[in-house]
Amino acid sequence: MSKKVVIIGGGPAGNRCATDAARLGADVVMIERDIVGGAAHLLDCIPSKAMIATGGAISFINRAEGMGLVDVEAGIDVDALKERVQSIEEKLHGQMVDLLTSQGVRIVRGTGRLNGPNLVVADTDEGPIEFEAEVVVLSTGSRPRIPDFAHPDGDRILTTRDAYPPPQMPEHLVVIGSGVTGVEFVHMFSSLGSQVTLIVSRQHVLPGKDAEVAAALEENFLRRGVRLFKGARALNIDRTDEGVVVECDDGRVARGSHALLAIGSIPNSDSLGLASAGVEVDPSGYVVVDHNLRSSVPHIYAAGDLSGKLPLSSVAAMQGRKIAEHALGMHIGRAHRHLDYDKAASAIFTEPEIADVGLAEADAFAEGRKIRVTKVPFSVSAKALINHDPRGFVKILSDPATGVILGGSIVGRHAAELISVIAVAINAGLTVEDLSETLFVHPTLTEVLAEAAE
Ligand SMILES: Cc1cc2nc3c(=O)[nH]c(=O)nc-3n(C[C@H](O)[C@H](O)[C@H](O)COP(=O)(O)OP(=O)(O)OC[C@H]3O[C@@H](n4cnc5c(N)ncnc54)[C@H](O)[C@@H]3O)c2cc1C
Repeated sequence: MSKKVVIIGGGPAGNRCATDAARLGADVVMIERDIVGGAAHLLDCIPSKAMIATGGAISFINRAEGMGLVDVEAGIDVDALKERVQSIEEKLHGQMVDLLTSQGVRIVRGTGRLNGPNLVVADTDEGPIEFEAEVVVLSTGSRPRIPDFAHPDGDRILTTRDAYPPPQMPEHLVVIGSGVTGVEFVHMFSSLGSQVTLIVSRQHVLPGKDAEVAAALEENFLRRGVRLFKGARALNIDRTDEGVVVECDDGRVARGSHALLAIGSIPNSDSLGLASAGVEVDPSGYVVVDHNLRSSVPHIYAAGDLSGKLPLSSVAAMQGRKIAEHALGMHIGRAHRHLDYDKAASAIFTEPEIADVGLAEADAFAEGRKIRVTKVPFSVSAKALINHDPRGFVKILSDPATGVILGGSIVGRHAAELISVIAVAINAGLTVEDLSETLFVHPTLTEVLAEAAE
């Protein structure tokens, strides 16, 4: 008899778990209250990157005169931009539904909750439907955190989910929060033509990231005319006839046409009936999981943002796959390996693009760990000059005794793609010698990675 797996939430974690569990022979039901694809496809990751790509095209065109072009100018058609974002979302949604149904996954439109450890209820338009489950996977994601002083209205005071694109393109956007999401929004709207003020609660953007990387981004923001309110915390946001007024704790006031809150997220765990099944959550509401992503109730797993690990789509999907393999006591063509979150590559889609993986220089320094750091600027690369974009650098951290690659950061064009080379090297335990002796295509930006490994 097939094992009965019920998944609540159809984002990257739920989808991947559903397709893999079905492939492995389980009888899978996936309950999704909104749209299959989840926040990642509809509200966060994909639409933000689609708009950033448009902004990137404008910014590139504006620099294109140096490539021998003349009279180039780009403007924005907001309706066309909206259609573009929607068509990407629809395409991905359609592909996902096709994949799930082709694997025999039953998709139920409704809001899922536990009613005891082995019973899942889907509240649908036609009334509640009950499912007996031998394995339950909770993958309901997270939502934007709203501070008490802010009252988002989807019009002038926005959360990250109102911005793809917003009802009107902001003339002057005040962004509150300078983590990964905040800086991506600053980049997106400033490249699409909005004036932007960023409230930075610390002395630098991107707290926790390499200081050199944060400085490169700040320099680019300042060059584009972004105003930075450093060391300031927003205390209040008022809507006025003309726009918004954001008051900060150091007495400074930022005025704009719109405000956008990017101060983190909270897990969607509150109405899941977790107590009825005895599933433990931590003080912030994330489901407590072990290294196999099992909750305090062994047949109930949690994946994605809800698990309180790294909030990335890539991680969520991999967790979904790991759960399917673990819950069904199988693996697809390889031995079961636990996820090592320290080896996850991540990127910030700004200009310059920023990406890193593995050990960070600041952490190595804080731990008093001996490392070798090599850094090569893209300005030495023929391809960077051909691309008319020699900004940024590649940094590789390795063990001075063995040469094993421990970490890397890349700032510059295509950083998010290039970091994959270092990610593979770290995951495979390769040395700087292995990387520097690889024959890469010439001329490409990848050659700079080999140089940094020398
Ligand atoms: C602005 C922004 C940009 C981002 N960009 C990137 C990026 O570039 N790269 C990257 O890797 N990550 C990015 N992320 C993070 C990424 O979006 C999340 O980590 C990812 O969506 C988490 O996937 P998930 O499956 O856990 O949850 P989600 O994608 O949030 O999906 C959860 C699903 O569960 C459904 N749901 C919730 N409660 C219930 C219920 N009770 N019953 C039924 N269904 C329910 C929701 O409708 C949703 O469809 C970004 C996040 C933000 C905010």
